[in-house]
Amino acid sequence: MRAMVFYGVGQPLQMEEVSVPQVGPDEVLVRVCAAGICGSDIHIAIEGTTVPFRTPIILGHEAAGVIENLGPEVREWKAGDRVSILPDVVCGNCVNCWDGRSELCLKRQLIGIHRNGALAEYVVAPARNLVRLPDRISFEAGAIATDAVATPYHALVRVGKLHAGETILITGLGALGLHAVTLARVLGASWIAAATHYPRAGQRARARGADQVWESGFALRPSEQYDLAVDFSGEPSLIEAAIGALRPGGRLVLVGLSEKSFSTLNVTVSTLVRRGMAIVGSYGAHPGDLSEVLSLADSGRLNLENSVTHRFALSDAYVAIQHLAGKLGDPIRVAILPELQESVPSALCRPIIA
Ligand SMILES: [Zn+2]
Ligand SMILES: [Zn+2]
Repeated sequence: MRAMVFYGVGQPLQMEEVSVPQVGPDEVLVRVCAAGICGSDIHIAIEGTTVPFRTPIILGHEAAGVIENLGPEVREWKAGDRVSILPDVVCGNCVNCWDGRSELCLKRQLIGIHRNGALAEYVVAPARNLVRLPDRISFEAGAIATDAVATPYHALVRVGKLHAGETILITGLGALGLHAVTLARVLGASWIAAATHYPRAGQRARARGADQVWESGFALRPSEQYDLAVDFSGEPSLIEAAIGALRPGGRLVLVGLSEKSFSTLNVTVSTLVRRGMAIVGSYGAHPGDLSEVLSLADSGRLNLENSVTHRFALSDAYVAIQHLAGKLGDPIRVAILPELQESVPSALCRPIIA
């Protein structure tokens, strides 16, 4: 099969002919119909801030496709089934897995970072990583749902415990933050505010249902007190502002990764204590999150079909990563479609404002 192989930071991925991977007893082989490109791929291939477990390795951790072959112990799936693949490979047998928090599995591995990923014609995954992709949902939407949508869903619902009628502040409006705005709307938030350093992103957030958007330094009135704030930026200035904007007893969920230290936050211990603030990290998602996201999409309540703005052939996977890193053409999410012979010219891409 054709695969795009990563050898080292700053080196273009190499298109190689490799053997189709073998399935283990409880694994499935999936023909990749779409693979999403994510900020993590930029961290690995261009910046070197995330280091894959080994090299060479096939990248790609957001995928959807059709089952081609199954291991002998797999009963619940058959060849031809359409599936989304959750990237977290978990043990099922540690304190966090037992506790229903498999996204924090102590032996967690990621497809496309610890083991070969989906920037290829085929990928192997454990059967328990699959979620059925409804017929009416495109493969590209099914691919990005695994991370760009399931991760903010997990942060809002499982960790942030957002419920209908609450007010929410979302800081950072990349693909995850933007999907958080969309999800907050679907989940019944009574007021959605968003803050970003990128004016273009603010425009999109408004189009997706944000009631108020700050596009640079944001100025809250003292009367504004949010029930929940979720940060996707990792930027201390936005996190600090989010803390100041929460009501006493409010919750702050951190999703955006950053190497910056908490010492750059200008918040006193007393502020956190007196206001009974909960600050908690949220990392990844589990199959329940992905399943619920796809159910919402299948019911028509959640539209995921306008989130992929650019599509590339497999051979252009590195170009696609550069494209996302440089925000060329204002991408939301970029997808690799292995069946494409040529990358789709931007004029053919769907409208950028969705
Ligand atoms: Zn990702
Ligand atoms: Zn585990």
